[in-house]
Amino acid sequence: MPESSSDSVSRFKLKRTLETLASKEGRGTELISLYVPPDRKIHEVMGNLRDEYGTATNIKSRTTRKNVQEAIERTLQRLKLFKQPPKNGLVIFCGAIPRNGPGTERMETNVLEPPEPINVYLYRCDARFVLEPLLAMVRERDAYGVLVIDSSDAVVAMVKGQRMDVLQEFSSGIPGKHRAGGQSARRFERIREQAMNDYFHRIGKHAYDLFNKEQALKGIIVGGPGPTKHDFVEGDYLNYMLKEKILATVDTSYTGQQGVEEIINKSQDVLRGVRYLEEKRIVQKFLYEIGHETGLGVYGETQVRKYLNAGVVDLLIVSEKMNMLHVYTKCKNCGTVEDHLIPQANFVKFEQDLLSTACKKCNATALYVEESKDLVDELLDFAEKQNANVAVISTETDEGVMLKDSFGGIAAILRYKVS
Ligand SMILES: [Zn+2]
Repeated sequence: MPESSSDSVSRFKLKRTLETLASKEGRGTELISLYVPPDRKIHEVMGNLRDEYGTATNIKSRTTRKNVQEAIERTLQRLKLFKQPPKNGLVIFCGAIPRNGPGTERMETNVLEPPEPINVYLYRCDARFVLEPLLAMVRERDAYGVLVIDSSDAVVAMVKGQRMDVLQEFSSGIPGKHRAGGQSARRFERIREQAMNDYFHRIGKHAYDLFNKEQALKGIIVGGPGPTKHDFVEGDYLNYMLKEKILATVDTSYTGQQGVEEIINKSQDVLRGVRYLEEKRIVQKFLYEIGHETGLGVYGETQVRKYLNAGVVDLLIVSEKMNMLHVYTKCKNCGTVEDHLIPQANFVKFEQDLLSTACKKCNATALYVEESKDLVDELLDFAEKQNANVAVISTETDEGVMLKDSFGGIAAILRYKVS
């Protein structure tokens, strides 16, 4: 299924913002990072910052002192807009960032609301922003259930990122394959079947209880050395909702915890494969609509924006690797606003060239950048407002590369054909 929850979209956007912030470095020790937990009183935080402002008067370098104090002032101004921290707390990054060599610094402020609650209060003034607490929130959070089963025992485990927890182990208690003397073959088989049936039901029930608790459960991988895993999956033992989450059935050499470890070693590929398969499927669906001229496939920034605007986009498909900025320029003289799409890497040059560019309307050389937005972020926000689903596609598959290179990285599948 395409990523549609606003949660995954906000995580994705945060990830991109953090990538940008990580690339910034101050001239000196003058970039401010402020983490405010949800239960902190804003006026206390402001009091603390005023103290820091006072302390900053001791900074020897005049430029650094000026930059630090200005950054604190700006942070205070932003804090004033809040009566109390938002539900997950508040993070502010502020500082003078050099654009293009010394003397080109410009104050930048970023106010972020984290996707998860912040636990610690942190104020730091450094040459770089402190990003680690937020980075931890955007790392792979998806949970995968693992079930390893054969006819004698079974294990239910949970994998999150690099971490694995064995949740429960089962033993079948099924008699060996050789019947005791005097027992009829049919009776022996019946007992065995009954025991196997009980064993499967027991695992099914517990697996449901254990996996159901995990909200972030993305999928389940079933493994084991023999055919038992298939009997279990194909039979009527596992809740249908969990069955739908089975991503792969993997042959292992071992059972028990060793079997789980074996699956985890193989699962990085399995899971990456699952994600890429999903991405391929999405782009192929789009290519089908284009190839068959169904009228449901559209691409390019202008087209996609038009259909988003009309509220007919079912699925917005964007390339993760599209680093474009939507830049709005304004004329100081006549107020004319224009917008431009430019590659992120060209922004500094664009801004410099603007200084010697004449306004198309009044011919004055008075243009400046009023606002610049990451194009992907802008489209994702727009899609969210219009209730469109969203898929962000990597360039790890041929389809992903094609989306980026042949379709400009932006495409959409419409709900219905629009004439
Ligand atoms: Zn003008």
